[in-house]
Amino acid sequence: MDVVVVGAGIAGLSCARALAEGGARVRVLDRGRVVGGRLASKRIDGRYADIGAAYLVADDPAFVAQTESWRARGLARPWTDTLRVHPGGTDARGPVRWAAPGGLRSLAADLADGLDVRLSTPAESADQDADAVVLAMPGPQALRLSPPPAIAAAAAAQRWRPVIAAVLTYPARTWTAFRGAFVNDHPLLATVCDDGDRRGDDAPVLVAHSTADLAAAHLDTPEGAGPVLAAAVGDLLGITASPRVQVHRWTYAQPEQATEAPYAHEGRVWLCGDAFGRPRVQTAWLSGRAVADAVLGTTL
Ligand SMILES: Cc1cc2nc3c(=O)[nH]c(=O)nc-3n(C[C@H](O)[C@H](O)[C@H](O)COP(=O)(O)OP(=O)(O)OC[C@H]3O[C@@H](n4cnc5c(N)ncnc54)[C@H](O)[C@@H]3O)c2cc1C
Repeated sequence: MDVVVVGAGIAGLSCARALAEGGARVRVLDRGRVVGGRLASKRIDGRYADIGAAYLVADDPAFVAQTESWRARGLARPWTDTLRVHPGGTDARGPVRWAAPGGLRSLAADLADGLDVRLSTPAESADQDADAVVLAMPGPQALRLSPPPAIAAAAAAQRWRPVIAAVLTYPARTWTAFRGAFVNDHPLLATVCDDGDRRGDDAPVLVAHSTADLAAAHLDTPEGAGPVLAAAVGDLLGITASPRVQVHRWTYAQPEQATEAPYAHEGRVWLCGDAFGRPRVQTAWLSGRAVADAVLGTTL
C-alpha cells in the first residue's frame, strides 16, 4: 500500500511511523525546511529556543510510552508540575510538563528518523498518486488542497486562534525563579516560560506567547508585537534590562473547539491533527496514529 502523508508535524510523523511499521510504503511531504510544524525550536545564539509548543503533557498510555522512550534516550525529561499563575503570582500544581534538552523539535526529528520525508515540498492538492492520502495539518491549511466534501466540511468547521511567540534574550538571568507562567486576563500576554530552565542550560532566555487579540492585530506585521510583548514581560517580572527580541507568527496556533472524532475521512483521504481532541501535542500524535490504524485496516 502506498500512502502520502502531507505534513511533517507530530500528527503526520506519528501517522507515518505507524504506517511504516504496519508495512505501508509512506512518503511524507512538508512545505517547511525542517520537520516538526508547531513542535518548533529555533536556533538562536547557538542554542534552540522552543517557539511553538511550550511543553508536553502525557496522560494517554500509548503517548506515555512514547515519552518514556524519549526519556530513556535522553531526548525528553520531566520539567515541572508547577507553573505560576498571574494575576496574583501564586504557584499552581498540575500535570508533569515534559521538556526536551535539545528543543521540542528534536522529538519530531526522532519520529522522522528513517522515514521518507521530503522537505521544502508543498503539496498543491489532496489528490496525490497513492492508495491513501493523509492531510496532517490545521483544517484551514487542508482546505487549500481542495479535499473531498466531508473533509472540507470538517476542516471548515474548525476555528483557530493565532499566537505570536517572542523569544526574549537578556544579558543575564535577573528574574526570580518561576519556570513558566499563565497570564490570565492580560490584553497582550498569555504565557511566559523560562526557556533556559525548561531546556536545562540556564540561558537568559524567556519565551512569551501573545493573546489571540494581539496576534490578530499584528498578523501582517508580527515584528511589531515583539517590543509590546517584551514590555509586558518586563512589567510582569520586574525586569529592567532590555532583551533582544525575535518573533514568530503562528496564524493557526490553537484550535478553539475540540472535536470528539479522532480524524475526518472520505474515500482515500484522511484529515488529522490537534483539532481532533484537546488541542495539544498528545492529541496530534494520537490522531495521526488513529488514522494509521484506520488506513492499515482499509481494504483497498
Ligand atoms: C504558540 C503555541 C503554543 C503551544 N503550546 C503547547 C503546549 O504547551 N503543549 C502542547 O501540548 N501543545 C501546545 N501547542 C500545540 C501543539 O504545538 C500542537 O498541538 C501540535 O504541534 C500540532 O501538531 P500537528 O502535526 O497537528 O500540526 P502542525 O505541527 O501544524 O503540522 C502541520 C504541518 O503541515 C505542513 N503543511 C501545511 N500545509 C502543507 C502543504 N500544503 N504541503 C506540505 N506541508 C504542509 C506544515 O508545514 C506543518 O509542518 C502549542 C502551539 C502553539 C502554536
